Amino acid sequence: MIKKIRKVLIIFLDLLFARKCLICQEFGNDYLCYKCFKSLTFKAQSCPNCGIKNKNGEFCQNCKKYFSYQGIMVAGDFNDKKLSKLIKSFKYNLIKEIGQFLGQFLFNFFENNIWINPIFEHETDDGFNKKNSLIMAIPLSTKRQKWRGFNQSEVLAEIISKKSKIPIFNKLNRKRNTKSQSKLKKIERKTNLENCFEIRDKNNSLKIIQNKKIIIIDDVATSGSTIEELSKEIKKYQPLEIWGLVLAHG
Ligand SMILES: [Zn+2]
Ligand SMILES: [Zn+2]
Repeated sequence: MIKKIRKVLIIFLDLLFARKCLICQEFGNDYLCYKCFKSLTFKAQSCPNCGIKNKNGEFCQNCKKYFSYQGIMVAGDFNDKKLSKLIKSFKYNLIKEIGQFLGQFLFNFFENNIWINPIFEHETDDGFNKKNSLIMAIPLSTKRQKWRGFNQSEVLAEIISKKSKIPIFNKLNRKRNTKSQSKLKKIERKTNLENCFEIRDKNNSLKIIQNKKIIIIDDVATSGSTIEELSKEIKKYQPLEIWGLVLAHG
């Protein structure tokens, strides 16, 4: 009798905790199976403004004068249905666990393409490392963070920091709740974000940020205005360079 109850209980628990892979729908232990994770591919890099191909996502000579940061390193393609489904489930269906897979994907891209084998062609460039770099997550307003329960950019940033040993700078505030960038027109996007970021503990922050390569991590860069607006604020603290690192450019 007890054996029978145990058997039923195990079947019940299996059903309760079994998870379907969001991509191939196969039952397993998690939201993503190994096969589908491995099938996610990296994107070729280009100038974030005009799209001309390059090796590291840096702004080209023509475009760089319009921006406060160096470029955006983009791991994957938002047109890749698998990746966009994972990002949407993470961000809008609030499945925080998917962040672990996306963070690993972002780290693999960063490690293979940028960090260990730097694709930077500047002669003096030593890539990114724990001494010369600093990771930042795009802060959410308190209201939005409460609603979502987590900051998706922070989840990714923590994984990249843990795996790369590059420290996180966490003295960033978002002063007000801005409208979702994806719902706005290009011009509205700029004014929507104006002066919405601030850095706390100004004197100490200057010491920490000065002469560092800053890596701003976000899930999706839409027009890049969020990275631009945060860069404007960071620039007051004299960093060496500022880069975006995102899952996709949508
Ligand atoms: Zn799968
Ligand atoms: Zn360009």
